[in-house]
Amino acid sequence: MMAARKLPPLPFDTEGLRGELRLREPMSRHTSWRVGGPAEFFYQPADKADVIALMRRLPDDLPVYWLGLGSNLLVRDGGIPGLVVKTVKSLGELVLLENQRLYAEAGVTCAKVARKSVAAGLAGAAFLAGVPGSFGGALAMNAGAFGGETWPLVESVECVQRGGAVLHFNRGEIGYGYRRVELPADCFLLSGVLALGAGSGDGGQAEIRALLEKRGASQPVQSANAGSVFKNPKGGYAARILEDLGLKGHQVGGACFSTKHANFIINEGTATARDIEGLIELARRKVREETGVELEHEVRIVGEAS
Ligand SMILES: Cc1cc2nc3c(=O)[nH]c(=O)nc-3n(C[C@H](O)[C@H](O)[C@H](O)COP(=O)(O)OP(=O)(O)OC[C@H]3O[C@@H](n4cnc5c(N)ncnc54)[C@H](O)[C@@H]3O)c2cc1C
Repeated sequence: MMAARKLPPLPFDTEGLRGELRLREPMSRHTSWRVGGPAEFFYQPADKADVIALMRRLPDDLPVYWLGLGSNLLVRDGGIPGLVVKTVKSLGELVLLENQRLYAEAGVTCAKVARKSVAAGLAGAAFLAGVPGSFGGALAMNAGAFGGETWPLVESVECVQRGGAVLHFNRGEIGYGYRRVELPADCFLLSGVLALGAGSGDGGQAEIRALLEKRGASQPVQSANAGSVFKNPKGGYAARILEDLGLKGHQVGGACFSTKHANFIINEGTATARDIEGLIELARRKVREETGVELEHEVRIVGEAS
């Protein structure tokens, strides 16, 4: 007879939860870099009520991390201790409201938000078409592109805290800046309402097409990457600095700086998170030593080294 596999004890009660709980889920399946060790616990909620019920029962000492499409995330090879909650395919409501407003749950893709807004003749959110993440990720990062930015469009957001309290904030109550959003601690985004303007006919569709073409021409969009690795320093461009220092194409293990866009790191197929982080640190050091500029990551780096 086969011995029964021993499962670790769960840190919270799952009775009545309707989502899917997985143990030691490889995060390489959930990040655009296709690297990252396992999440100790991984939860795909059934819907918004289900994720609130989950948050209500989490013990204070269980680390919890929310995930959208993992398109701005480097998970280290040792994985993430604690619980990862994935919003995409779970929090998927997207509704047009009166007065040129749009309600979207965190797991809706940015591309869908952009398409829905232009189909309704609304202006302001077309830039989201080229951001390959979730709406929750765009809110958490204040994603922006081609002159547009997420938070200036926000009317309000709905959050849940550990313990299950649901809070609402208007835009003026949350500090934000370039790829920076100051949410209260242990506070996760469930949904947001965007206040958009009136568009002009099918101008929005044309705008989306033009933005996507521009991206395809300047970024390695077909390869495994996480967009811009570094934020632009004040008054400059990270890509320009990296290119000037000859880092385009520079390689560590299976990771290299793109030859198309110097601020993108590509996983050529065999990269580990360690290779990618090694390349990030090598570039930061070189930039610091040769220009005095301290580059800051735009990508979030989480988890433990293996
Ligand atoms: C090819 C490519 C091009 C890109 N171009 C751009 C660009 O033009 N502009 C730009 O801004 N970004 C760009 N990015 C980066 C990325 O798409 C954005 O940062 C996006 O907003 C991340 O969304 P996500 O769902 O993938 O977030 P994830 O990578 O899953 O998470 C990013 C961070 O947000 C947090 N988070 C996610 N969801 C929630 C939530 N519901 N509540 C609380 N916190 C949450 C996570 O914990 C994590 O810290 C690009 C990436 C790629 C791969």
